[in-house]
Amino acid sequence: RLVLALETSCDETSAALVLGGRTILSNVISSQVPLHRKYGGVVPEIASRKHIENIIGVVDEALTAADKKLSDIDAVGVTYGPGLVGALLVGVAAAKAMAFALDVPLIGVNHLEGHVFANLLAFPELEPPFVALVVSGGHTSLVHVRGYNTFELMGQTRDDAAGEAFDKIARVMGLPYPGGPEIERLAASGNRHAIAFPRALAGKDNLEFSFSGLKSAVLNYLNSAAQKGEPVVLADVAASFQSSIVSVLVNKTLQAARKAAVDTVVVAGGVAANGELKRELSVICEQENLRFFAPPLALCTDNAAMIACRANYKLLVGKVSDLTLNAVPSLKLGE
Ligand code: ATP
Ligand code: MG
Ligand code: FE
Repeated sequence: RLVLALETSCDETSAALVLGGRTILSNVISSQVPLHRKYGGVVPEIASRKHIENIIGVVDEALTAADKKLSDIDAVGVTYGPGLVGALLVGVAAAKAMAFALDVPLIGVNHLEGHVFANLLAFPELEPPFVALVVSGGHTSLVHVRGYNTFELMGQTRDDAAGEAFDKIARVMGLPYPGGPEIERLAASGNRHAIAFPRALAGKDNLEFSFSGLKSAVLNYLNSAAQKGEPVVLADVAASFQSSIVSVLVNKTLQAARKAAVDTVVVAGGVAANGELKRELSVICEQENLRFFAPPLALCTDNAAMIACRANYKLLVGKVSDLTLNAVPSLKLGE
């Protein structure tokens, strides 16, 4: 089966062609990052307009790169939430039009389930059950993936998402958007033991996260140093902050894997691009005899191939949408 999928939930316009759920024929991503950088974050209205301008060209490119025609497509998948409503609507409207015109099934896909399924694209041998740590710009969740279509949310953040924390801290440190890669680069030359930032809920026997206290602690540290006129080693701040976040994520992921009694752990979402997070997770998983998977960089951040992969597994069990499909900005995992 050849699935065409569209992804427009945030600031990437993407179209992909995926064969049989796991073979990527093309995965075209048009990023709007440079456009939003001057505002320090994604401006929803600009994102929606840009998606409208980009979408047809991106689909054409995906077809050309895969050497396929529209008539070769067996189904159309699309992200319908969570995300920015105006941005989502562009993809949903385009996908509906194509599914209708081609007379093929339409499959609405949850963006977070897509992030999880990026691992299936990268690792042909991977199968449920496993525990997934989903860490992205808007979400931080632990998910027990019991089967291809059975998800159980084990815990999530009470406030900020991990990626959001990276982005906000980067911003106060004067680094450009998106902040995750910038903090990671700066942290590489810093001492992660330099400052003891809080590790909220780390010792607690629950699977929830909280990053707003960490964010305030970094802000307070920077402000009080500035007031006292003390010099700040930004690389040390970045390294200590990153180390706090990573240690909480790793600790809770291990707890989740034990609780779900699985032998496999995967990480997903934009923050899964973080090298320290991947290193620490792989070390702990090896100690605990767990298999560990992390998608390659290009499949961590938003892309349509992961949406096509997820769409394929929904199609296999007849989970298709009709032309009343609408954008659901706050869609929850497993819905
Ligand atoms: P969501 O998936 O929750 O709707 P999103 O789609 O905007 O949100 P993604 O595109 O999955 O999020 O991920 C973007 C986030 O990943 C940003 O917050 C960015 O700072 C973060 N990120 C990217 N690379 C890194 C990195 N190397 N280290 C830490 N964070 C990173
Ligand atoms: Mg993005
Ligand atoms: Fe995302």
